[in-house]
Amino acid sequence: MSTQELSKIELEGIEFLIKRDDLIDPYLSGNKYRKLYTLIQTPKEKYNKIISYGGTQSNAMLSLAKLAHDKGWEFLYYTKPISKVMREQRVGNFYHSLSFGMQHRELSEEIYKEFIASLSLNLDAKTYIVHQGGADRGAKEGLKVLAEEIRNLNLDIKAVATPSGTGTTALFLAHALPEYRVYTIACVGGSDYLKEQMRALAPIPENLTILEPKKRYHFAKLYGEFLDIYKRLLDAGVVFDLLYAPALWLTLLEKRIEGVLYIHSGGLSGNESMLERYREKAKRTRKCKKL
Ligand SMILES: *Cc1c(COP(=O)(O)O)cnc(C)c1O
Repeated sequence: MSTQELSKIELEGIEFLIKRDDLIDPYLSGNKYRKLYTLIQTPKEKYNKIISYGGTQSNAMLSLAKLAHDKGWEFLYYTKPISKVMREQRVGNFYHSLSFGMQHRELSEEIYKEFIASLSLNLDAKTYIVHQGGADRGAKEGLKVLAEEIRNLNLDIKAVATPSGTGTTALFLAHALPEYRVYTIACVGGSDYLKEQMRALAPIPENLTILEPKKRYHFAKLYGEFLDIYKRLLDAGVVFDLLYAPALWLTLLEKRIEGVLYIHSGGLSGNESMLERYREKAKRTRKCKKL
């Protein structure tokens, strides 16, 4: 189910190679395929239920929904209370996850933290819990496989780049590829928070570089320059996600970092609803200008 496909693009006079992990599967691709690799390889008889929790537009949620669907496992997903708009949406990750049979449970703000903490305490042998965003030591195995694929490309390039949420991907990739530099960027919270998240999983190796963006971006907010770089990358021939990839691309270009293999982290299924939000915003802006 893996891919060795590469794309080459040029931006601002710099050439980049891209490892197309987005092509692995439409719903279970990119770094979620890597992080869930061990679970994907697990025989279906081993479990009958997967539990996870987190955001309602999460790519990890959709990947798990697809995985559970393929394995014939039940999938329970806990979130904080969701809006009516979200419940009725016919696009986006939440909608698609429900169509794969995900069972959604809402928890009130007050009990959320405590309830999530208690989940791991009451598991039977047939149930597996995946922590938010797939941040799990089990992700190590899948990133070793990715590292091996990168080595087997036999490129002159000795640096890779991939964006971070929990940092699980970049961290374990750096561990598995000590002879490469691994560039990443914090997309959820700042660099200090990212380091904290990483250290909870494993020590941060010397070959991992966390780049500082020119400006502090807030996760899942809309930025004109994000849409702009998304369009430039699209024109160059590759579609990227609108949550993680833009900050890293903008920073690679701003710092003029050359000789990089970009590991496509997938997440394209979320673009539908993000593009809708950008369109709504553009409409509102036009209205304001008219007034
Ligand atoms: C989940 C995700 C990330 C972040 O991965 P981490 O391992 O949590 O750092 C990056 N890009 C995309 C598209 C994702 O869906």
